[in-house]
Amino acid sequence: MKLVLFCFLLGVFPGWNETRGATFAPITLYTQYEQAPPEGVQEALQAEVESIMAHIGLHFEWRDLAKTAGHEVSAELAVVSFKGRCDTVGLVGHTKFEGALGWTHVSDGQILPFTDVACDRVREFLQAGLLTFPVEDREEKYGRALGRVLAHELYHIFANTMHHGSVGVAKESYSVLDLLSDDFQFQAKETRMLQTSRPKPAVETTAGTM
Ligand SMILES: [Zn+2]
Repeated sequence: MKLVLFCFLLGVFPGWNETRGATFAPITLYTQYEQAPPEGVQEALQAEVESIMAHIGLHFEWRDLAKTAGHEVSAELAVVSFKGRCDTVGLVGHTKFEGALGWTHVSDGQILPFTDVACDRVREFLQAGLLTFPVEDREEKYGRALGRVLAHELYHIFANTMHHGSVGVAKESYSVLDLLSDDFQFQAKETRMLQTSRPKPAVETTAGTM
């Protein structure tokens, strides 16, 4: 079974002290796609992120970055960029992989709320597996796999950690089976980290007023 290295996260970071409240406000996810995805892929992707995160207590509002006015205020947010083609047309029966399936940006040891999901790489990694499903099911299976990659990256951002788990959504590398299996969840330790981490500060202005 081939494995693929998951993220590029560098450096160390200071821990947060405060914790999330018992009721979590929805987190806003701003999305942008290099190529518009089929509706079936996008719906399955969002449904999987929500399914994985809902029992942890995290909920999301999805917004198209291109249609955002620029004056919106969110308590917590992340910006997600989907790279390459996110469809299931023209799959071929061999597996290819060329690096990380997703990655989250880090600067000066701080995890930033910017993450990328490599649609092309997930597609090429899974395509032999996707071909074993009936054609009408492939968008759903592929979208669900993209959702798992995104859930992993959101874990880094909202648990504010570079830690990886040994099993489940937080592990460092995924197999084809992880991405295509019927059930894939966070383990208890990472669930607790997501529940007890402090909310990210709102985006700060950079103008010096001190
Ligand atoms: Zn990772």
